[in-house]
Amino acid sequence: TEKNVIMDETAIRRALSRIAHEILEKNKGIENCLLVGIRTRGVYLAQRIAERIKEIEGVDIPYGELDITHYRDDREGGGDNREAMDRTVVNSNLTLPAGSPGIKDKKVILFDDVLYTGRTIRAAMDALMDCGRPRMIQLAVLADRGHRELPIRPDYIGKNVPTSRHEQIEVALTEFDGKDEVYIISN
Ligand code: 5GP
Ligand code: MG
Repeated sequence: TEKNVIMDETAIRRALSRIAHEILEKNKGIENCLLVGIRTRGVYLAQRIAERIKEIEGVDIPYGELDITHYRDDREGGGDNREAMDRTVVNSNLTLPAGSPGIKDKKVILFDDVLYTGRTIRAAMDALMDCGRPRMIQLAVLADRGHRELPIRPDYIGKNVPTSRHEQIEVALTEFDGKDEVYIISN
């Protein structure tokens, strides 16, 4: 087994700053935008982007969290299903800031740490649609490792990481893992 760093703390910080700027540029500001992080690490990414946007524009952008375990279509499928492994909550639900008017007519920007087959994002979109009709859904990921099985592509990408199916990406974020680092693990 070989484990190599592909993003260090600085690279992660720069990628997230770039994504914050890209979000502002693409949406011409953040009016009617809502950030939604997919648990677990997607939530910290959404939170960090909200902080960056606050620094850049001086405005608060709401962020929420989505738990999509129930919606995965290959939940019992084994190794690829990391959602079931890094969490204990089994209910699917969307948590928004207190007093939030919901997602109806909002531009929802979804956040996840790693994009692989696209099944988690498809499930996330299903879960969101059950909560109301957003005006638009965009997708931001820290790492895109390829191997899509569905027609899903991210709008914002921290880093493209071409992988083989045998390789894995490990994402460490300070809030959850005590440090900021992304690794590629080859077996
Ligand atoms: P997908 O549903 O696109 O196949 O996989 C994406 C989901 O599984 C994400 O929520 C992500 O956290 C997790 N995932 C898939 N592959 C990897 C990987 O190589 N590394 C990590 N850390 N998570 C992965
Ligand atoms: Mg995940």
